[in-house]
Amino acid sequence: MDTRIFEAMEAEVRSYCRSFPAVFATGRNATLTDADGKSYIDMFAGAGTLNYGHNHPAIRQAVIEYMLQDGVTHSLDLYTVAKRGFLTALQEIILKPRGLDYKVTFPGPTGTNAVETAMKFARKATGRQNIIAFTNAFHGMTLGSLAASATRTKREAAGVPLGGVTRVPYENYFGDLDTADFLDKILSDTGSGIDAPAAIILETVQAEGGLNTASAPWLRKIAAITRKHGSLLIVDDVQTGCGRTGTFFSFEGMGVTPDIVCLSKALGGMGLPMALVLFRPDLDVLKPGEHNGTFRGNNLAFIAATAALELWRHPDFEAEIVATGAKIKQRLNAIADRYPYLGTHVLGRGMMLGIGWTDPTIAGRVSQRAFSEQIIAETTGADNQVLKLLPPLTISDTELAQGLAGLERAISLELQTCNEVAPFVAAE
Ligand SMILES: *Cc1c(COP(=O)(O)O)cnc(C)c1O
Repeated sequence: MDTRIFEAMEAEVRSYCRSFPAVFATGRNATLTDADGKSYIDMFAGAGTLNYGHNHPAIRQAVIEYMLQDGVTHSLDLYTVAKRGFLTALQEIILKPRGLDYKVTFPGPTGTNAVETAMKFARKATGRQNIIAFTNAFHGMTLGSLAASATRTKREAAGVPLGGVTRVPYENYFGDLDTADFLDKILSDTGSGIDAPAAIILETVQAEGGLNTASAPWLRKIAAITRKHGSLLIVDDVQTGCGRTGTFFSFEGMGVTPDIVCLSKALGGMGLPMALVLFRPDLDVLKPGEHNGTFRGNNLAFIAATAALELWRHPDFEAEIVATGAKIKQRLNAIADRYPYLGTHVLGRGMMLGIGWTDPTIAGRVSQRAFSEQIIAETTGADNQVLKLLPPLTISDTELAQGLAGLERAISLELQTCNEVAPFVAAE
């Protein structure tokens, strides 16, 4: 495989390609094929961007037809037929049936653009600067969202101070200590040294932060804390949204309605860049042009996103995600039962699942072995300690069977190299 041009020209900062150094050529659903014709089962799916798989036939068809009709591709924030179609579908297929009353704004086409925009709305609406973010959070790589992100190396690379955010512990960060009570206490105590926040921003599952999963009771407590302290709840659903956790929004069924929601990644249907911020109508505080961006009108993405939302019309679509997620979880639990040493444990929910070990280096080694088995699966967490599985929601039974079998082989091969007879010592 000739990768010389990439290594010669692309900056050292490139990352995923180091774990999976093939030159990919084509993709169909969960199958990627490289330039040598070797195929891989994609259990990473662009970090949850390809929820509908590579080149979903209905989505791709809609984009091709639109292009062949000379449909407008770029439009700033002008009104277009493609955008009208998307907003109508969002309203009718997603928001109305869920009883959600949100207005929307299209930021630039990336997740970080959505987070920056959400923070700007929250700060202007409340007149406050501080934003509360959690340990192990990931919200993006531009200065505002990076300030809310937790990974030390990424923060240090900013090169300037990151401000305006107070870090607090996510659920279960201290074992038994209720971190929601801790947060309520520091916001109630005028001597805590913590400024009243404009917003609390969180992921319901910390996708990049090691698949820590928030419980419904904890989320409800956090939502109540935002109301009590006059601040707003921002749910960053960039990776957890668009069906990844089994429902369109990750907070559905949790008993919370965020004031602001960020979407991106899978929103553009087939990996086309697009982001969206949904907010309570009374938070519509930015004056015309106060926030802006050239690529807020990516009409190919609107067309793809609309075709993707159409899939949600069928009630079976959601039920199948839940069923596939349960199937994967069952299989991972079986693996954990088979290897009851090295602290093998299963994490996540819906189709955002993973497996971890007490030795944080195992996940990375399993990922590398899995790649030799032609399975693409990345790691997550501050120490890359969890192997994360984010297959397309539409993965076929055959692809899934192949993916899980390859993964199991990789795990068993890797664990054989560990000292498996040593008694297991719990991490805490
Ligand atoms: C990926 C991601 C982002 C940033 O999105 P980009 O498109 O990379 O800017 C923000 N928040 C979460 C939860 C993400 O997973």
